[in-house]
Formats: sequence, C-alpha cells, structure tokens
Amino acid sequence: MDDMDSRKAPRGVRDILPVESWKWAYVLNTAAGVMTHFGYSEIHLPVFEHTELFTRGVGDATDIVEKEMYTFTDRGGRSLTLRPEATAGMVRASLEHGLCGDLSRGQNGKLWCWGPMFRYERPQKGRYRQFFQIDVECLGLPSPVADVEVIALSAEMFRRLGLKNLEVVVNSVGCPKCRPQYREALISHFTSRKEGLCETCLGRLERNPLRVLDCKKPECSAIANDAPAVYGRLCEECAGHFEEVKAGLTRLNFPYRLDKRLVRGLDYYTKTAYEILSGDLGAQNAVCGGGRYDNLSESIGGPPMAGVGFAAGIDRIVMVMEQQGVSFGEKPRPQVYVVAQDGAGSCPEARNAAQVLTHRLRTKGIAAEQDGGDASHAARSFKAQMKSAGSVGATWACIIGPEELEKKLITVKNLQTGEQAPVPFEDVESHLA
Ligand code: AMP
Repeated sequence: MDDMDSRKAPRGVRDILPVESWKWAYVLNTAAGVMTHFGYSEIHLPVFEHTELFTRGVGDATDIVEKEMYTFTDRGGRSLTLRPEATAGMVRASLEHGLCGDLSRGQNGKLWCWGPMFRYERPQKGRYRQFFQIDVECLGLPSPVADVEVIALSAEMFRRLGLKNLEVVVNSVGCPKCRPQYREALISHFTSRKEGLCETCLGRLERNPLRVLDCKKPECSAIANDAPAVYGRLCEECAGHFEEVKAGLTRLNFPYRLDKRLVRGLDYYTKTAYEILSGDLGAQNAVCGGGRYDNLSESIGGPPMAGVGFAAGIDRIVMVMEQQGVSFGEKPRPQVYVVAQDGAGSCPEARNAAQVLTHRLRTKGIAAEQDGGDASHAARSFKAQMKSAGSVGATWACIIGPEELEKKLITVKNLQTGEQAPVPFEDVESHLA
C-alpha cells in the first residue's frame, strides 16, 4: 500500500493544474461544437451508480468488474460504485427518463457527456485511476448509419482538435446468434496451442476465448495473430451490417484498418467494435474506443434498445496534442493590467482608483488584473507592476498615479508597441480595441 500522506493526492489520481486546465477547456469546447453539429445533446450523469448496473452493464467477466471497480457500501447499506465508464449510466438514464425515440420532446437518443471515471488500474503514463472521458452514445438506432455517424463524429472531433497520425481500426464481434460458432473456432485454435498461453488466458480459454484475442502479452499475441478471423463466420445480418459500416466509412473518406483481434468480449456487445489509435502514445495508444451494444439494455433489465457509441480519454487527447505540438488556441490572459503608481505608499488614492477601474473593466467583459490580484505582494513598485503586466501577457497597461488622479486621466500604454496616451477616466474602454 502507498504511504498515506494527506498532503498528497492518492496514487493514480492527479490535479489538473491551471497550466493544463485551459487546454482541457479548449478540448471540451471543441468537442461540444462537434456534438452540436452532429445533433448530440449533453447530459450530466451521477459519478456513482448501483454496483449492479456495472456488473450487469459492463459485465462480470471483464477486468473492470473483476478487478478495477471502486465499490463501497453507503450508510444506508447499499452497494454503490464510482463509475468506471459512462455507457451503462447513459443507458440507465435513457431508460429511466425515456430519452430515446420521443422526437416530439427532442429526445432523439443521441447523448454525450464528459467527466471523471474511476478504475483501480496500475498507474502508468496515460493511465490513471481517475481519468476523464468524453462519452458519446446513439441509442435506439440499429442501423449501420448510426455506427458510421459515431465513428465519423469521433474522427471529426480529432480532426478539429488537430490531432495527427491517427488510425481508425474496426472489427465486428457478431451477435449471440453467430458468436457461438466463432467461439468454438477460437477455442479449438487456442486449445491446440494451449501450452504457449499465459496463465490468465488459460483461465479465459473456455469462458471467454474472445478475450484471449485481446491479450497484450507477447506469448499470447503471437498465438492470437494466427487465430481465425470472424469474417466469413458472421450471420447474414451481422455480415450485412459490417459491409454497410465499411461502405459508409469509405463513402465518407475515412481510411480504416480491419483488426480481427479488436474485440469486446461480452454477449451484449454486438457487431461493430472500433478504436482510434495514436502513433504517438506508446503502450496506451488508444485515444478512443467504442462499438455497438444492442443487447445491453436487456442485460440491465430494460426493453430491447439498440445502441452504439464511444468513449475518448481527455487525459490522453491532451497528452497527444502536447506531444504533437498542436495548438490549444489562445491561453486566457488579462487584456489589461492596471498599474497604481503610488510612490512607495504616498498615494493610496491611486491604488483605490486602480481597484475601481479594474472592477469596472471586468464588469464590461474586459479581462483585467491589478497589483495584488495575481498572487504577488500587493503595493509593489511601479517597475515591478509593469514587469508583471508583461509577464502575464497583458496587451495594455492602464497607469494611475498622482498626476493622472489630479487630471482625471488614465495613461493607457500599449505594451506591444510601447505607445502611450492620456485618456479620460470614463473613456478607457474605447481605447482598448
Ligand atoms: P475504454 O472505456 O476502456 O474503452 O476506454 C476508452 C478511452 O478512455 C481509452 O481509449 C482511453 O483514451 C481512455 N482511458 C481508458 N482507461 C484509462 C485510464 N485508466 N487512464 C486514462 N485514460 C483512460
């Protein structure tokens, strides 16, 4: 166990500091724009749900449920779990509030959310115990058009963010009708090379052979590479659906790679599975993963309801953008720095006037800062204040000293050109264009 130190965040959990948080805001704003253009509405979900939602909605046989959930009993004796992902909660909310299929109430089943997810994983670069996802779900639409839309949405989001070097990887995992046959083919392949598999995969072999395909250990990887592909074993419906998805991606000019090892190993995941990988992320190289889950609603006790969606990791998106030197837009900065020239405390009125002007500019929608308002020591020298104005990146300095006070003026200085001019106190705003 880690050393307990209440002055430090728990292992695997981190603060997103101001040096980074403005980049997150840029990512989320950009994502929100894409959602609007694709017709998705934002929803805010609780961060904890009944544990059963995840055991049934993510699946008992997944690593997430078996090993990674933060589960606790509340004071009322209920078993609750911090959400390890958002899809199950999305489906639960949609069932609870009838969010799907009532177009007259604007409920088209197209939803997105973002927020923290929690998994007890081994922390490493790009992998945290509290991490953030943008989650998009298209509920109630069984058509392959929805799969293509969701994949296109994720790709468009990354395009707008300026991410480079990405690859869309797709596969189909069939459905409960055709999967048993594929399972048999996998079991027989893996059994024939059983001695080469890792301990965990040996345990999975009969129970969930699809997950052996997913194993990243080199010994299993080699065997999984030789495993039979699902193509040719899909039922007519799944095969037709897959063809339509591929045709749609081609129609929209999205290059993709087929990967027979990309799977979601549970019965309620159906048909499409996909990921978007970054060539710049190392081992944890997925920026986004998703697929179709037409049987998930029933598995949590709801009526049949189709669904397809994806989750993208915000931590990783920001990491890749930083690595690729992609722009996050302009960092928020004060437009104006108000400088009080009070001659070593001899003119407190200048400071008072600076306070009034700073507040006035702010209420007019102009980002303004003043001495003492930026974690520095208040009542600093004129020179120190001018230096701060430069270092916070202000475009303008508004200078107030005894002379300005007397004439009811402000000296407005353009910090880029060095030009300055006296301006009536009431007119400052109009000189800041
Ligand atoms: P998943 O829900 O496992 O399909 O993951 C979807 C996306 O969330 C991944 O492609 C990653 O970008 C991100 N992600 C998943 N787990 C973590 C984690 N532990 N730390 C950071 N990002 C994660």
